[in-house]
Amino acid sequence: MDKDVVDYLIVGQGLAGSAMAMALLEQGASVIVLDREDMNSASRVAAGLVTTVAGKGMNLSWRQAEYLPEAMAYYHQLEQSSGQELFHSQELLRLFDSEKRKVKFENKIEQLEGWVAEANKEDLARWNSEHGGFVMLQGGWLDTNAYLEVVRDILGARYRVDDFSSSDLTHADDGIEYRGVSAKSIILCQGVSGLTESNNLFSHVEHRSAKGEILRVKIEGQSQHQIISNNGWMVPVAKDEWRVGATYEWSDMEGETTAEGRAEVEKKLKVMTDRDYQIIDQQAGVRPIMRKSQPYVGAHPDHPRVKFFNGLGSKGVISGPSVAKHFADHLVNGTELDPELTLEKRL
Ligand SMILES: Cc1cc2nc3c(=O)[nH]c(=O)nc-3n(C[C@H](O)[C@H](O)[C@H](O)COP(=O)(O)OP(=O)(O)OC[C@H]3O[C@@H](n4cnc5c(N)ncnc54)[C@H](O)[C@@H]3O)c2cc1C
Repeated sequence: MDKDVVDYLIVGQGLAGSAMAMALLEQGASVIVLDREDMNSASRVAAGLVTTVAGKGMNLSWRQAEYLPEAMAYYHQLEQSSGQELFHSQELLRLFDSEKRKVKFENKIEQLEGWVAEANKEDLARWNSEHGGFVMLQGGWLDTNAYLEVVRDILGARYRVDDFSSSDLTHADDGIEYRGVSAKSIILCQGVSGLTESNNLFSHVEHRSAKGEILRVKIEGQSQHQIISNNGWMVPVAKDEWRVGATYEWSDMEGETTAEGRAEVEKKLKVMTDRDYQIIDQQAGVRPIMRKSQPYVGAHPDHPRVKFFNGLGSKGVISGPSVAKHFADHLVNGTELDPELTLEKRL
């Protein structure tokens, strides 16, 4: 059998592996991408939200001002080439859960300039909003499954279904060999499996990955022009249908749905609306979260030809494209790696 010779072999076609493959192709490198198609991978389950003012602390995401425009340009370029809508730009109505939160927001308003606007009374009146709220700008949601499919189409025969095992990997000074593929480097973009599975080359890396559960529900007659958030979120995804989430659970890395997860998401939903709902579906996945909740790239300390891109955390939609571009530039052109993104510094 003929051997495939490429520049880079990528393992994993989630948000990390997809952006990595596209960034390397953009640089003129050749790639093969392997994926075992875990149906509960974070990227397949994710809500794909871009929440520009996040969490209880109401902070901007790490490097948002730099990464968000790059991410938007990347998704829009793929929309143009595929003719498919991938990113749904949409206002997000953030409701305050208490007067304390409202005061906190008011004290931060200068730092959030350009990212927020006043909520109007009609919108607030549609939800449980006794403490008021504000509108987040420049947000929306990425249809992650549609995005992964567009990248798979671009890859064509360069995409292969395969369950990668490091025991079949051979290391040499000038590259690697893996099941008939010869490459300069292999880049592991396996999400949480890359951090937890025992035969993995990076299972020694510290992480605090978090499982998340999401419901898809039907709510009749509710206005769907905004995404809603209040210690949980509701994203309108089809007529009368919403995705609602999400839980955070740090001890279960399996990514199976549970009755507890379902009850917790229902509780979040009831905080936002009193309307009746019907559950259509429940999903779970595990977010790959590493120290500081920032992404990492780098090389294995003993096998320099084995590279790594992981730790996209809860923000893979915003940071994936920029980090991949930066890493691809380093791999292909030898540019210096940003020390804040390098794995070696944090081992
Ligand atoms: C419930 C939930 C909600 C989320 N909501 C959001 C959100 O609103 N916004 C946001 O930005 N982010 C969100 N995230 C986070 C986001 O999903 C992650 O940051 C991102 O998907 C991680 O991408 P990844 O490619 O690193 O990992 P993954 O998505 O896990 O992809 C890894 C890929 O590697 C493959 N793989 C693994 N091991 C092997 C192997 N041995 N051989 C071959 N293939 C392998 C898997 O099949 C998979 O396709 C959410 C995550 C969860 C779980």
